[in-house]
Amino acid sequence: MRIVVCIKQVPVVSAMQFDATSKTLKREGVPTEVSSFDVRALIKAVDLVRAHGGEVVVLTMGPPQAREALAECLALGADRAVHLCDRAFAGSDTLATARVLAAAIRREPFDLILCGRHSVDAETGQVGPEVAELLDVAQITGAHTIEVNVATRRITSERETDNGFETVEVGWPALVTAAEDLAPERFPSKTDREQAKQKPIVTVTAAELPLATEQLGTSGSPTWVAGLETIETKRRGQVLTGDTLEQVVDQLVSALLKHGLFGEWQATAAPRTPAAGTVPRAGAKDIWVLGEVLHERVRPVTYELLGKAAELAQRMDASVTAFIIGAGAERHATECAHYGAQHVLVADHARLPHYDTELWAAIVADAIRTRQPGVVLLPATVMGRDLAPRVAARLGLGLTGDCIDLDLDGEGRLLQYKPAFGGSVVAPILSKTRPEMATVRPGLLDAATPDTSRRAVVERLPVPNQVARVNVVAQRRTAESAAALDHAPVVIGVGMGLGSAANLAALEPLAKVLNAAMCSTRDVSDASWLPRQYQVGLTGRAIAPQLYVAIGIRGAMEHMVGVRRAGVIVAINKNAKAPVFKAADYGIVGDYAEVVPLLTDRLQRARN
Ligand code: FAD
Repeated sequence: MRIVVCIKQVPVVSAMQFDATSKTLKREGVPTEVSSFDVRALIKAVDLVRAHGGEVVVLTMGPPQAREALAECLALGADRAVHLCDRAFAGSDTLATARVLAAAIRREPFDLILCGRHSVDAETGQVGPEVAELLDVAQITGAHTIEVNVATRRITSERETDNGFETVEVGWPALVTAAEDLAPERFPSKTDREQAKQKPIVTVTAAELPLATEQLGTSGSPTWVAGLETIETKRRGQVLTGDTLEQVVDQLVSALLKHGLFGEWQATAAPRTPAAGTVPRAGAKDIWVLGEVLHERVRPVTYELLGKAAELAQRMDASVTAFIIGAGAERHATECAHYGAQHVLVADHARLPHYDTELWAAIVADAIRTRQPGVVLLPATVMGRDLAPRVAARLGLGLTGDCIDLDLDGEGRLLQYKPAFGGSVVAPILSKTRPEMATVRPGLLDAATPDTSRRAVVERLPVPNQVARVNVVAQRRTAESAAALDHAPVVIGVGMGLGSAANLAALEPLAKVLNAAMCSTRDVSDASWLPRQYQVGLTGRAIAPQLYVAIGIRGAMEHMVGVRRAGVIVAINKNAKAPVFKAADYGIVGDYAEVVPLLTDRLQRARN
């Protein structure tokens, strides 16, 4: 079997620095590495080929120095490498990148393409699905297992969903993006590196690909970065002291009460006043929100998107359309109207029992083609992040993934605010194509206020009679409450300092009194104390609770980037030198086993 692995060379995110004056990222002297999810994809490919025979070809598009990343991949076991290197590729966004990768992959037959779920610098997760669409192959995103049946030329894979796992089956050729657990981390030995020097790295230039110049680089990119802003939050870094632990805990409780715990939480950032006044906008205006239904209920992020859509629509004198897909979807139309949709498009059919990338993409892409909305918004959930790039690639549209906010510029163009480099910067992105498309992170925008007197025009759309290439074999709900992390006002973060999974029970009374959701560090997920969906950080999810309590967490940058948008951060750690104290507002130095029961008791009293 022939496996192509697409990799990206990225700067080591923890070494990146933002220059606030020049508003640029300082890249000089910053070490680079192969993006972490890509490494997992590569290791899995190497293991599959070792078990079943074949060849692993590693592919990257990047500047001359990306050759180093390819050399690293050869040392990790890839058989040969292809370096897509040309000045014409510079400035490519995800779609322009995907075009080049797809054109290069098409030069030779392949069975599987593996990519990382997303790159750890840009974090878009779009290139994989866009390559799949351009090559017209099925995709599985966020896979944490792959089993190959060479005889039937099929793979079975378990992929992460927002609340558990889904086992799917697909025939070759297919594209799979790797979740963190797809393969254990491995590092090449000195001998591996020496032997890798004999393996070929072939350079391919733009002239060797059947692509026109205007499809490449900046000119071939439907999106562009309109600037760079820092979103650094200043933390107090106040380690609480006192003669006794009781005194210290009391100080923390009174500080939290002052912030509004158990009452009206004090805003830590100035409230964002939506810009007023109408903005002229040429061309299509209608704003579409692709809703998501999970377990028979509309996911709250849909109402957040409808809230934002209503705000934007008012400013550009446009209308808001909700779009819902699935068997029984029509029953949610009334609710979408209550939350501000003036039109509801419904694709409701027994052929849509569960989300299927290609079927959903066909429905959405056809509707966009025929109705030509101005803006299309999707949730940056597992579903939205899987679907949006597929649709964007099909229609040749610009897409900004995982936005934290949206606005309009003076010309009525959609400003799509996208965090990057672990959330250390946020870049306003603009699209050259219409509709402008974006996915938006759940939990960050204000939900629309429902009004049961509102009515909408409901329209049913045809559902194509298309055979699914990916069969869903089973679904497991193992991380039911992980989805709640998107909206939980209080979150307790669990670190390795807890000592063992059994000690999680010791945090339950605290979680109860705070009505808190739980999340974990990567090491805790690696140890399987909590499922991967609970992992917060660079390679996990980003959360924005009003209060984050980090317990037994060291405070590695890779974890703390995931809680940058938390209102107040409290750290409990027995090591006074742990970096978490600098990244927190309040810290207590102590053993969690002593601090947590006392804190729970004091909070209970305060609440009562
Ligand atoms: P540790 O580093 O083991 O820290 C445990 C802490 O508990 C220590 O500070 C210790 O003092 C304290 N402690 C011990 N006993 C007690 C006690 N009894 N009471 C109180 N405190 C105690 N990490 C993430 O979390 N999320 C990510 O998404 C992520 N992505 C990564 C991506 C890359 C590319 C890399 C290289 C790393 C990533 N990491 C991520 C890992 C990260 O660098 C850290 O290794 C991880 O966050 C550490 O987890 P921890 O704080 O639970 O464990």
